[in-house]
Amino acid sequence: MNKVIIFSAPSGSGKTTLVRHALQKFPQLEFSVSATNRAPRGEEKNGRDYFFLTPEEFELRVNRGDFVEWEEVYSGLCYGTLSSEVERIWSEGKVIAFDIDVCGGVNLKRLYGKQALSIFVSPPSIEVLRQRLESRGTDTSEAIQRRLGKAEEELAFAAQFDRVIVNDKLEQAKAEVDMIITDFLNNNKAETA
Ligand code: ADP
Ligand code: 5GP
Repeated sequence: MNKVIIFSAPSGSGKTTLVRHALQKFPQLEFSVSATNRAPRGEEKNGRDYFFLTPEEFELRVNRGDFVEWEEVYSGLCYGTLSSEVERIWSEGKVIAFDIDVCGGVNLKRLYGKQALSIFVSPPSIEVLRQRLESRGTDTSEAIQRRLGKAEEELAFAAQFDRVIVNDKLEQAKAEVDMIITDFLNNNKAETA
């Protein structure tokens, strides 16, 4: 059975950190590189972190039906999963790891059902989330404010995921990820949402 593991969370909760950990720990996982119309940030590379498209290219590919799902995650900023990426990873016999926003995560779980394990990464609190975004140092204070506003709404979606991991102590959160994924890969079924 082709499988997928979906990680969703409010921005700054530590989702990227935990996805990277899972990819290192489980060689059968492969990261699904999303497409976006936003500009690269920091050390991000095209084709590794995202496929960076112009707004026109992104829209063209939406209209062509190239996406399994896509969302306007922030005003004017769109992100989506290309069908070609899903096919490529499954054709290699691997399990897909998605790092996508909360709505996209719910949609993919609905689409893939028992083939999917959906994990919601929660920050211990909004205040801790603010501190992490500030110390990550990749966003303007305006962008941080926008992400925090959205985080409050996103936390309400946690119950729709198979599992919720509160990322307080990082080592403990990593250990939980290891356990949950091992269980999912070994048992030929996922929890239902
Ligand atoms: P996301 O992908 O959810 O936006 P990141 O993985 O980029 O979040 O994490 C946001 C920031 O918080 C990063 O600087 C990361 O190193 C840090 N971080 C992640 N998990 C923890 C943790 N458990 N305790 C403290 N800092 C953390
Ligand atoms: P960032 O700008 O911090 O890289 O990402 C913003 C948000 O977009 C994150 O919550 C990230 O998980 C989400 N995201 C990234 N790729 C996709 C995707 O393919 N689909 C959806 N729906 N969200 C995505």
